[in-house]
Amino acid sequence: MNFETLAVHAGHAIDPETGSVAPPIHLSTTFARDPEGVPLGGHTYIRESNPTERQLEAALASVEGGEAALVFASGMAAGIALLQTLPPGSHVIFPDDVYYGFRIAAEQHLPDWGISSTAVAMDDLAAVEAARRPETRLIWIESPSNPLLKVTDIRAVVELAQKAGALTLLDNTFATPALQRPIGMGVDVVLHATTKYFGGHSDVQGGALVFARKDELWERADHVRHILGAVASPFNSWLVLRGIRTLACRMAVQSSGAMEVARMLAGSPAVSAVHYPGLESHPGHEVAKRQMSAFGGMLSFRARGGREAALRAVSRVRLFTRATSLGGVESLIEHRATSEGPQSRTPQDLIRLSIGLEHPDDLTADLEQALEGA
Ligand SMILES: *Cc1c(COP(=O)(O)O)cnc(C)c1O
Repeated sequence: MNFETLAVHAGHAIDPETGSVAPPIHLSTTFARDPEGVPLGGHTYIRESNPTERQLEAALASVEGGEAALVFASGMAAGIALLQTLPPGSHVIFPDDVYYGFRIAAEQHLPDWGISSTAVAMDDLAAVEAARRPETRLIWIESPSNPLLKVTDIRAVVELAQKAGALTLLDNTFATPALQRPIGMGVDVVLHATTKYFGGHSDVQGGALVFARKDELWERADHVRHILGAVASPFNSWLVLRGIRTLACRMAVQSSGAMEVARMLAGSPAVSAVHYPGLESHPGHEVAKRQMSAFGGMLSFRARGGREAALRAVSRVRLFTRATSLGGVESLIEHRATSEGPQSRTPQDLIRLSIGLEHPDDLTADLEQALEGA
């Protein structure tokens, strides 16, 4: 089945009791048992499992091509739950520009749990190879990455990990399965901040892990969620489930809008560099073309005049909203280093854009006037 069709129908069986076409939300925290004590519908208590969460998990597994999924309270909670399945003494290789929340977790929390890590330039395979240790249990990939839009050769890193007996996790938040299917490339676990494109409307927080196999790793992550408690609420699960239905068409429009914005910026004298994998000048363009069907709605660029010019341009937009986050229907702009705070390593001249569903001509016109004299 084609992705567009799958996205509309995944996890959306007609409710047999009422015939409702839209799925119900099950808010119940507890579930009844028959006189022998057997749970009537397979559920017992909301933190362990609930029907709305299960429906979302089935849909996510289906659109990512995995055997099972688990949903969490946030993207961070999902990623941390996977790290919590690793035994003490494990070593993890992260990309050097991994989502900043995970970098801070790696520096400030993982050592307390007996987990060491190394940050490497994931687009440099020799560097990944050199970082490998006998106790390396996991290689973490983020492609395209946030906020530099670096592209990793997924198949090459998977091959390296398999030789080393390590698992691979890919943070697919930027591309979504509409554009990139990591499990088909051999990745073991796919991570999503469903807060972003899956939700799609800047009104719900969630995270997910999708597993290539419903095996012992899935079981351990399920146990971590059940006992440590980073669960998704039924209402949030329901909103994400709704978002999946329009994901394919939103990603298509946002990708073509981002391409137009990237081309305009690449020709602007106020811009010294544009980071968008759809541009031929992007160092990861050829790899991105092999592993993505379009290049996504996220891009970043550098103001030629440095930090002050970047801040000035961000202050002058009229249509873009100055806010962090991404993946919603409205276009957002941010001075990323300011959003990340004092621990940020993002270049001070960098502006990050999340392209929404507005007409690209209106977006390029807004940026052109904002960059005038920048
Ligand atoms: C936002 C984001 C996360 C974290 O998701 P939250 O829901 O904010 O916890 C992780 N990875 C990437 C790439 C993100 O953009």
